[in-house]
Amino acid sequence: MKAVYIQKTGGPEALIYGDQPKPEPPAGHALVKLAATGVNFIDTYHRSGLYKLPLPAILGSEGAGTVESIGEGVTSVKPGDRVAWGTARGAYAEYQAVPESALVPIPDGVSFREAAAVMLQGMTAHYLTHSTFPLKSGDTMLVHAAAGGTGRLIVQMAKMLGARVIATAGTPEKGKIAREAGADDVILYRDQDFLEETKRLTGGRGVDVVYDSVGATTFLKGLDCLRPRGMMVQFGNASGPAPAIEPLALSQRGSLFLTRPTLAHYVATRQELEWRAADLFRWLSEKKLVLKIDRVYPLREAARAQQDLESRNTSGKLVLEP
Ligand code: NDP
Repeated sequence: MKAVYIQKTGGPEALIYGDQPKPEPPAGHALVKLAATGVNFIDTYHRSGLYKLPLPAILGSEGAGTVESIGEGVTSVKPGDRVAWGTARGAYAEYQAVPESALVPIPDGVSFREAAAVMLQGMTAHYLTHSTFPLKSGDTMLVHAAAGGTGRLIVQMAKMLGARVIATAGTPEKGKIAREAGADDVILYRDQDFLEETKRLTGGRGVDVVYDSVGATTFLKGLDCLRPRGMMVQFGNASGPAPAIEPLALSQRGSLFLTRPTLAHYVATRQELEWRAADLFRWLSEKKLVLKIDRVYPLREAARAQQDLESRNTSGKLVLEP
């Protein structure tokens, strides 16, 4: 089968498109013929070595396709079923043996492309807004890179929950995308000081929560955007990892809470995975959640897709198709 893999870490040139053995499904796994693969920043971190993997490795954590065969003990899916996942690596390929525990069925009316586009970033936006800091009506939040893949979904879910959304975006075009997703206020944080603007927009109070996927360039200033006892949810490194701080810095800024969550810990039980996936698919069918699939590439152009994602020029989701 064709796959995109790395033998050593590095830049996009480290990605190799070539032949790999078609997997046999081990016990507890289903062999899935992929129809679509989601491209995510985590793939670039696996490639660069920021997140370590045993090598060689096929990249890609998110996909959708049809079950071709099942390994011993698998009971919840069968050949022919349409399935999707967001937390099983090996999706930059024509076939993947996926643990049964990571699979959810794709309902009728949701395409493979949509399913591959929504699982990882959608479940992330879901846990951030429903579990890490469960938003409620009247809360005010700041979300960075709000026109991005995860950011756009966070904005839409926050509005469903009744929160006031202050969003940052890198360009006026991205600001428009954030507004269309539901943001109440947009700060163009390459030109405007987002701390000053957040303070102004909240009458000096600060926000209840910051959702920060950008990291290095936004984290410290983001702490100052919070109200006393507010929560910093630092969940990504689009500009590089956030710097280290002393616990005392949280006290001095108002007894703040800081968390650095990751998706796997929020879909660790079958119940949580099914809850989040079912909400996403229902909202898609009800058009409460609107995806923006920005670009679709053939699998062999995975390196170009990763370059585009890292270039800061995309908004919404990038998808590969074999
Ligand atoms: P996005 O689609 O949001 O793309 C990244 C965006 O970040 C850019 O478009 C850009 O938006 C902004 N950005 C700011 N500075 C930079 C920079 N120096 N280089 C590149 N981009 C920059 O990506 P995702 O939604 O896929 O992921 C965002 C982050 O969230 C990643 O670090 C990812 O790993 C993380 N993440 C974490 C998860 C978790 O569970 N912890 C799960 C999912 C994602 P703008 O131009 O508007 O500034």
